[in-house]
Amino acid sequence: MRDDDDAEAEEEFTFSTQLRKVRGYNEFAASEPPSALSKLIDQLKEPLILLLLGSAVVSLLLGEVGDAVSIVLAVAIVVAVAHIQEQRSSESLAALSKLVPHYCHLVRDGVTSHVLANELVPGDIVTFSTGDRVPADVRIIESVQLETDESPLTGEIKPRRKTTDALGPSTSISERDNTAFMGTLVKSGSGRGVVVATGPQTEFGAIFAMVDEVVEQRTPLQLSMDDLAKKLSMASFAIIGVICLLGLWQRRGALEMFTIGVSLAVAAIPEGLPIVVTVTLALGVLRMSHRKAIVKRLPSVETLGSISVICSDKTGTLTTNKMTVCELWTLEDGKIDAKELPDSPSPSLARTLLVGNLCNNARRDEKGEYVGQATDVAMASVVRHDARGSFTRTAEMPFSSETKWMSVTGTLTVPPSAANIGQGSTTYTKGAVEAVLERAPHAQTAEIRRAADEMAKRGLRVLACAVGTTFCGLQAVQDPPRQGVRESIAELRRSGIQIIMITGDAEPTANAIARQVGIDGGASMLGSQIDSMSERQLQESIDRVSVFARTTPRHKMSIVRALQSNGHVVAMTGDGVNDAPALKLADIGIALGRGGSDVAKEASDVILVDDNFATILPAVEEGKGIFYNIQNFLAFQLSTAVAALSLITLSTAAGLKLPLNPMQILFINILMDGPPSQSLGVDPVDRAVVMRRRPRRKDAPVLTRRVLMRVLFSATIIVLGTLYIYVAELTDDGFADERDQTMTFTAFVFLDLTSAVQNRGLTTTLTGNRMLTLTVSVSLVSQLLLVYFPPLQGVFKTTSLGLGDLTLLVVIAGLGFAAHEGRRRWERQRADEEDGQDAADGWGGLAVA
Ligand code: ATP
Repeated sequence: MRDDDDAEAEEEFTFSTQLRKVRGYNEFAASEPPSALSKLIDQLKEPLILLLLGSAVVSLLLGEVGDAVSIVLAVAIVVAVAHIQEQRSSESLAALSKLVPHYCHLVRDGVTSHVLANELVPGDIVTFSTGDRVPADVRIIESVQLETDESPLTGEIKPRRKTTDALGPSTSISERDNTAFMGTLVKSGSGRGVVVATGPQTEFGAIFAMVDEVVEQRTPLQLSMDDLAKKLSMASFAIIGVICLLGLWQRRGALEMFTIGVSLAVAAIPEGLPIVVTVTLALGVLRMSHRKAIVKRLPSVETLGSISVICSDKTGTLTTNKMTVCELWTLEDGKIDAKELPDSPSPSLARTLLVGNLCNNARRDEKGEYVGQATDVAMASVVRHDARGSFTRTAEMPFSSETKWMSVTGTLTVPPSAANIGQGSTTYTKGAVEAVLERAPHAQTAEIRRAADEMAKRGLRVLACAVGTTFCGLQAVQDPPRQGVRESIAELRRSGIQIIMITGDAEPTANAIARQVGIDGGASMLGSQIDSMSERQLQESIDRVSVFARTTPRHKMSIVRALQSNGHVVAMTGDGVNDAPALKLADIGIALGRGGSDVAKEASDVILVDDNFATILPAVEEGKGIFYNIQNFLAFQLSTAVAALSLITLSTAAGLKLPLNPMQILFINILMDGPPSQSLGVDPVDRAVVMRRRPRRKDAPVLTRRVLMRVLFSATIIVLGTLYIYVAELTDDGFADERDQTMTFTAFVFLDLTSAVQNRGLTTTLTGNRMLTLTVSVSLVSQLLLVYFPPLQGVFKTTSLGLGDLTLLVVIAGLGFAAHEGRRRWERQRADEEDGQDAADGWGGLAVA
């Protein structure tokens, strides 16, 4: 029998695989990205590169073949490096787009499983319920009050009721009520159906083919980097113009000045800056995904470092969402331990258990375990015998976070004798105690509430059960806090982030769990209190509140708004459809990967793969760390540009022969824009240091005073060291030759690489950033090749240096290194001192938890 099953499963598997081959995957192929070659050609079309190539042509016409070849080769190297980096940037961005896979519920052999939506083929049977995106075009075969939002397809905002009825001859999309369309959203109810079209064959696919234009959004940081690059370009052009005029006035060769001017422009303009920023952000996002936080859009990385309040759901985020009924209570029996249920229960206990059993949507999965809403699973698991087999359900009022109760109506063919229930149609209700007592009032309400409160104060979720309009008892559900949550909360609070719990549960339950996870010290507030307050009143009192209880999703909007108007940068978690507006409104919307609805995921910026609150911590750490890294490579890149410009300006002004030739300047450009710079972007984040800092102000500039000071410091060291060598070489023999230029060039490169190493994170050890060690070593070896390898000597116009020369250069670099060490020590001390007071550069001091 087993073998037959296996063979059948295999056959089916091969059948769907075959079908997939014919029909393709259930996804849309975005238009082909431009090929590597066409991108390369685009890069060659850059104005500066064209100018350089122009100067090569002029050199050629003037008969200076060697110069022409050198310029072309140097341009080739510059373009190749830029090209590789750009490829890397688009590869990491492409990797990002695959981080959020879309799943659906597939039914095979009566068993539901969670599969990737892109694997569906026509003929598959799928189910969907409130909050799901319909995974393909599906002919409905079962519908429970199913309504879908078809606005993406038809523009019609009103949800459309979907039925199983056969249709008349009309085939317009807006009238095909027995089909749920791919990409539309289940607004309410649930349904089941047969996949009739996938991918490009769906109605959505037809539209997608028309609007296949994905506009890439640039982050505020990227924009400010673009802006910075533009300003720097203008400044460089101005300086270069002055240098050229000065040179011409000094009757230097026009072609020489032109070529120097253009290569200086290539070197001084940090055209690689925006790319390095993008790659750094994208790599940060990939690193976060390894730590189970998926950041959907690059701008969110920046905001993560500025979060000052995190509003978190309780159930499933702070707690495990593994619920078990641990106690029951009836007026007749008092408290009963769920592990010691009597064999012959009292009528009210039997009824309480029966309500939990019948008014329940938990189903068994392929492994025979209950799946569904955690509360339902808990209540289904506590009964020994599932009575739903002999229950015919005629109606259901589904549970909603707004009403906080659910009921089912139907007839039982064999009611349990102890429950004393007739054979007619009956309604079974379970839900929040107040909500159920409102529907089933009881003379001993006060006593019932007291019992419920006592259980809630121990952190239990209490549900009341009623048959018809008669209250029968309480079930108390346990949902323990997740491991590691308490520690993460403590850590986040130490870094100045306030944590707020928002829950639909009762106040005592919420307060008890809040205490257990370390959200204490604040007041608690009820959803109904929010309703009775004006916006202004809420704004005034919200900073004192750390727990919101008995809320509905719409309260989340008021909470976010009030916090934001108090100047907070708010992160908010959510899972349900109704959470979507608040997730969108928050500065960072955080959806739950497993328990969250598709809508919540779409509305959010970050997805927690494991639903765990503790995962927010690494995301915040990375978000803060990335900023430091960006500042570090900014300091390095800018100091190189400033040094190159100053060096040429100073020597031109002094009437000296130029210390570097165009090819050498282009090589320096590769160091500045290329690998060493990128490695500074992946400096390991020092969690302890980063988390000691208060959240960054949202509008704080990246280029702070401290970064500018560092740029000046690094550039000064490079210029002083290089000029010293150049002047010493010149005075040596009185005129400038290839040897002098080689010495100056090598001095510049050594000092620049020292600056790269020393601009790493303040607490990163010398070999702590392996990528930096590697790229700096490779750059060093390349420099030695340029100096000693004859073919390259020809291109870069260098000559071999003696051991004494090299030793002198190493000593100079060593001095530069030592000066940087002094600066680093001073900066570290400053940072420590500033912990405790707000720093002027946008990073606050140590947070007082
Ligand atoms: P959190 O916001 O912390 O995640 P929650 O969203 O899980 O909490 P709700 O699901 O809105 O909170 O639950 C609120 C209340 O509704 C619960 O305290 C419980 O009394 C009641 N309740 C929860 N689930 C069910 C259910 N399946 N059937 C009936 N009532 C329920």
